Amino acid sequence: MAVTEKLNKKEIISNKHTNYRNFPMVPRVVFGRRSFSQLGEVLMPKRRNSDAPFIFLADDFFENTDLPSQIPLMFDDEIIFISANEEPKTEQVDALVARIKENFAELPSGIIGIGGGTLLDLAKAVAIMSTNSGPSHNYQGWDLVKKPALYHVGIPTISGTGAEVSRTTVLMGPDKKLGINSDYTTYDQVILDPDLTKTVPTEQWFYTGMDCFIHCIESLNGTYLNAFSKSYGEKALELCNEVFLEDIPEEESRDKLMMASWHGGMSIAYSQVGIAHAMSYGLSYLLGVKHGLGNCLVFQHLEKFYPDGVELFNKMIHKHQITLPKGICSNLTENDFDLMIKVAMRMEPLWENALGKDWKNKITPDCLREIYMKI
Ligand code: NAD
Ligand code: ZN
Repeated sequence: MAVTEKLNKKEIISNKHTNYRNFPMVPRVVFGRRSFSQLGEVLMPKRRNSDAPFIFLADDFFENTDLPSQIPLMFDDEIIFISANEEPKTEQVDALVARIKENFAELPSGIIGIGGGTLLDLAKAVAIMSTNSGPSHNYQGWDLVKKPALYHVGIPTISGTGAEVSRTTVLMGPDKKLGINSDYTTYDQVILDPDLTKTVPTEQWFYTGMDCFIHCIESLNGTYLNAFSKSYGEKALELCNEVFLEDIPEEESRDKLMMASWHGGMSIAYSQVGIAHAMSYGLSYLLGVKHGLGNCLVFQHLEKFYPDGVELFNKMIHKHQITLPKGICSNLTENDFDLMIKVAMRMEPLWENALGKDWKNKITPDCLREIYMKI
């Protein structure tokens, strides 16, 4: 046997017990100002026939803007406007899928989500549930989806969540808020047009942007960190610092935040988020506090865990004159606190990433209560 062959065999044997994740990435992406106008040509080859429509799920913010007139409708294509006031629910996904199946004899050619994390997650879930039998809450968890989803395209209109690159769609179900994490969840195509984010109000821009910033801090300071996550996380953090701490032209700032969101999402794909996210889940579950704001409400009190990150966060809040709501938890009962703490502590991988394998010795329900009480 030749030496190289021997070496290869040895490598294979020594790698036998590794368990690295083999996760999917978005295979096609368009980036650029006004790239939304290319949607028609992107979709055309994916149109199966005139009876198989494209269904566009769009944030209802755009209903009375000129965006609908730019959507390349043909044949029976339909735009469904959806409010992002509440985070997506499994029953909402099931109702949308039922409506689409009732209205069309054939399965759609594809589902296109246009909006922030809420609409991006809804579109992913509708694409999955169009080909897998329901109800959708049966798939909340890891790798429970059996069949490939319909072709789906994500078009973010706010930057920060990383939902455009992730392999999850976070849904509120009857008994839990949990993602459908699967290889079929990831988008087949993404269109990144920073111009679509022009109309985002300042506070929302800040909260969703801070979701990205916090992804970076939690990933870069986590025990799961590796060279893959670090390379994306460092780039995303650098971009966030430029966007939120320097004075750069607005157009450049929109471009950069869109790429920060992408890199931040890639960073956590191969590591994990941490304490702010775990505790934000508690706020969201009990009080319906939205993801970006919830993360900020918790993160401001995490100086003990992320001192450098909280210092930067305070500078950013100050620079943009953001006033976070106060007294969110002031009228809660003991049972309410217990429920939030239970929901937060259930997010085991997030705690393990933040504090290491012996995290249970480092954090107690009382520590969490103390933080919640400050919010
Ligand atoms: P969002 O989609 O909830 O929207 C927030 C608000 O901004 C809404 O009122 C919406 O109408 C408005 N809006 C959206 N685009 C706008 C525009 N261009 N101009 C003006 N207003 C606009 O916001 P988000 O922070 O992007 O998403 C939060 C959701 O993302 C949560 O449901 C969260 O669970 C989810 N999320 C998912 C992932 C993932 O990997 N799948 C990651 C993080 C967060
Ligand atoms: Zn997040």
